[in-house]
Amino acid sequence: MTTSNPESKDAANTPAESAPRPSNFIRDIVIEDLKTKKFGDAVIQTRFPPEPNGYLHIGHAKAICLDFNLADEFGGKTNLRFDDTNPEKEEQEYVDSIQNDVRWLGFEWERLCYASDYFDQLYAWAVQLIKAGKAYVDDLTAEEIRQYRGTLTEPGQDSPYRNRSVEENLDLFERMRKGEFPDGSRVLRAKIDMASPNLNMRDPVMYRILHAEHHRTGDKWCIYPMYDYAHGQSDSLEQITHSMCTLEFADHQPLYKWFIEQLGIFPSQQIEFDRLNLTYTLLSKRKLLQLVREKHVSGWDDPRMPTISGIRRRGFTAEGIRNFCAAIGASRTNGSTDIEMLEHFQREDLNKRVSRAMVVMRPLKVVIDNYPEGLQELVEVANNPEDPNAGYRQVPFSREIYIEQDDFREVPPPKYYRLSPGKEVRLRNAYFVTATSVVKDAQGQVVEVHCTYDPASYGGNSPDGRKVKSTIHWVCAKHAIAAEIRLYDKLFTKADPSQLEEGENFTSNLNPNSLEILLDAKLEPMLGLAKAGDRYQFERIGYFCVDPDTMPGNLVFNRTLPLKDSWAKIEKKAGA
Ligand code: ATP
Ligand code: MG
Repeated sequence: MTTSNPESKDAANTPAESAPRPSNFIRDIVIEDLKTKKFGDAVIQTRFPPEPNGYLHIGHAKAICLDFNLADEFGGKTNLRFDDTNPEKEEQEYVDSIQNDVRWLGFEWERLCYASDYFDQLYAWAVQLIKAGKAYVDDLTAEEIRQYRGTLTEPGQDSPYRNRSVEENLDLFERMRKGEFPDGSRVLRAKIDMASPNLNMRDPVMYRILHAEHHRTGDKWCIYPMYDYAHGQSDSLEQITHSMCTLEFADHQPLYKWFIEQLGIFPSQQIEFDRLNLTYTLLSKRKLLQLVREKHVSGWDDPRMPTISGIRRRGFTAEGIRNFCAAIGASRTNGSTDIEMLEHFQREDLNKRVSRAMVVMRPLKVVIDNYPEGLQELVEVANNPEDPNAGYRQVPFSREIYIEQDDFREVPPPKYYRLSPGKEVRLRNAYFVTATSVVKDAQGQVVEVHCTYDPASYGGNSPDGRKVKSTIHWVCAKHAIAAEIRLYDKLFTKADPSQLEEGENFTSNLNPNSLEILLDAKLEPMLGLAKAGDRYQFERIGYFCVDPDTMPGNLVFNRTLPLKDSWAKIEKKAGA
């Protein structure tokens, strides 16, 4: 896949329009199937089939975009189907969050379906297969079934129960359903070929006994169909033409076809594509659930989580995610995608859509000695220089302001062009100022900088053509409002967090510094009106979004992403 080759880093930094669009081989299959009328006059029908055992993550977003966009492009429809055949792990909370996330990503399903809607039909088809001599009840234990299955190099062995009569199988299967037998005592298996080179074809289990309450069917059933038996038949019932799933199911395709052929039902077709793997990220509901349960994160929607709800809370946009998914496309080999590529598409989208604001995260007081005491001016600032329709706003300015601690150095290192004694810089949209002296505390820390300003540079315009090398942002001290700012970093320290040393589990690779909380930030007053979910670019810092934890008098911002910081690179190179 494109993103795993050495050029990928650069590709992630080029605008989306110029980035090469990887071909989507699934599209080619659909075009061919339409040409040959493989499904007659049936419309293209796809489905997105999550198991409701956790929240959706960015990997699911890739599948969702493929499923919905492909159908949409060819005038077809997409169902949302909950693959709810595992009663012990599934919950209504997950069903609700999944629907919410799919809609938020911008997609609307044709029908909302549940595999559990088909339990009666699946049972009837199982009976049909028993009657045809294609399925049997097996009394072997799970462990024995595993032993009898054989290996990749050795054929399996027939179960001693394989040749039960149809009558006996029908009787036992019905009694399994009625609840006469304990969990794990019997299963229903398809009777295919114990010598097949494909292990999935060696009499796979179709039903297991599980006396468990189901989130929708309650205690109606105590036998539940296995994924392989339920999935293809559910596809067929919904007349799914192209059933996309990830590559680990490629070996299951012959079984998928076998059931459909034996039952003579609508010939849905399974197509496998590559799973999304992102660097510094784990995309597995099971592992994400562990992070939630063990409280490594605050919940499924912790802004550090790769869940849709997490990155939404962090401030990611649905459009940026869709653009990313379009760029990665789909392929037939697994690879790994740089997380910077996901972030690139977010920055590109946010840059176009969000208002700018001036915020000082780590404040340093600046007093402009020659600015008249008591005077207050308003300076005019463009809300979004990328969007002429975004308009302007007025920002207050007076004698005392805050700047970032980082924007002042008493002793400037080489190539440091920001404020330092004797140096002149531009205060964005306001004035040119020159640092004159500093005030230090008992520890020798600079706590206040004194400056003079040039009244002729109003608006930040040079009065006589003289140049300043740096423009810094500021917030008027008198009008500043307070907020809590949460800065997020990568959740894991390793590009592949599943890579483990001896004795480690994946949580050993968690980044202990993935969250930093700033409590002393100073914000321009306009941000006092911000509501949960509102997004901004804090000038020169990054993209931020108001967190739902915000309450009256207690604003909380999440950093969605930093802007690229070239200074950090220079500093790093210089070894400073
Ligand atoms: P997980 O291991 O995270 O639970 P899953 O594949 O078991 O993933 P499902 O709920 O069964 O999760 O997935 C629904 C659909 O999303 C399936 O078609 C699956 O193939 C697809 N999908 C899941 N993870 C990814 C991923 N990382 N990249 C692309 N598609 C994915
Ligand atoms: Mg799963």
